[in-house]
Amino acid sequence: MKRETADLLITNANELVTLRGGSRRPLVGKQMDALGIIKDGAIAVRNGRILTVGKTSEIEKQFRAEKTIDATGRLVVPGFVDPHTHLVFAGSREGEFEMRLKGVSYMEILRKGGGILKTVRSTRQATEQELVESGMKTLDIMLAHGTTTVEAKSGYGLNLEDELKCLKVAKKLGEKHPVDVVPTFLGAHAVPEEYKGNTDGYVETITDKMIPKVARQGLAEFCDVFCEKDVFSVEQSRRILLKGREYGLKPKVHADEMTPFGGAELAAEVDAVSAEHLLFASDNGLRMMAKTGVIAVLLPAAAFSLMTWKYADARKMISLGVPVSLGTDFNPSCWVENQQLVITLACRQMQMSPAEALVAVTINAAHAVKRAHEVGSLEAGKKANIAILDVPDYRFLGYRFGANLVEKIIKEGKVVVDVESRVSRV
Ligand SMILES: [Zn+2]
Repeated sequence: MKRETADLLITNANELVTLRGGSRRPLVGKQMDALGIIKDGAIAVRNGRILTVGKTSEIEKQFRAEKTIDATGRLVVPGFVDPHTHLVFAGSREGEFEMRLKGVSYMEILRKGGGILKTVRSTRQATEQELVESGMKTLDIMLAHGTTTVEAKSGYGLNLEDELKCLKVAKKLGEKHPVDVVPTFLGAHAVPEEYKGNTDGYVETITDKMIPKVARQGLAEFCDVFCEKDVFSVEQSRRILLKGREYGLKPKVHADEMTPFGGAELAAEVDAVSAEHLLFASDNGLRMMAKTGVIAVLLPAAAFSLMTWKYADARKMISLGVPVSLGTDFNPSCWVENQQLVITLACRQMQMSPAEALVAVTINAAHAVKRAHEVGSLEAGKKANIAILDVPDYRFLGYRFGANLVEKIIKEGKVVVDVESRVSRV
């Protein structure tokens, strides 16, 4: 039999985790344990896409390729999707970290003009070029840890000009860097200092000036709101999300992070794609999310970073049938690029199984950014975004932590990370 030509074969994987069957709808409940593992698995890739997956013996019979990667003893998984990052910002806040260790709360720092507002000042001062440079560096680290698709929120500009600047930076990053970047408009991240005491005035600027411009320039796919006590009320958040929806920006909500506030209910009501954080989400809100299919984007690294030792109730969400995904919440107060660490926190602090956590950073995260038709599983036709990890079995995720398990990353058929020969023993 004449063999077909492929560009790349990956063969002999001890476990090839396909995550097949979840491309139309996110996986929920018991489905989150079904990884679609192929033992001694192989993948054939052509033109940046997956041709097929199967047993190594079958794939080798069917295909030949100039380049073959032998994945003997390795775990092969889809490239991770990080569905919640604040990728574009300038500066850092290590001083506040030290203050928080001395017992000052995050909300207190914010009230004193620190926190988000400090980052807003430095981001407004930064040029587009400077923001692109730091964003590229961040994406390098994310990619090196297995992430091949990230969502990127604006929200450190907080005026028309600087919000547009940050979204343009996100767009440029997606064009320049191998990692795919999905942009979200988060003008409602905080109330800027010039609108202090006039939140309604700022909400009007968002709905009447920012959203129309962002949408017309095609700079974002989603519109997000920090719906929280002392930030944006449920009613103000609703106004912003509905206006965004009118302009084709799909809703997302930072919901119930610090207090029970009705964010989960709002997410269900406006048919949001996702609700994020959810540490204090009510049972009723979670039931409404399950019913309308709103994805919970859980951010255990953010909870860890807050040091209040409270985490979202992932077990309850999974048992109620809420689709659960996981993200880093990369931002200057939660500076983490690594979805492997997020898996560890999800397993150890929220009692998610390694299988559930893997689903949550791949196919379910792809749904949370509306990319499940393209990425998030290893199936024919999808982008060949593949992580080869130097462990034999998916249960090593969360079990081994603190070291980067990535050996190779393939992005649309090209090897973009290869850790071999990084260390010299001579
Ligand atoms: Zn966030």
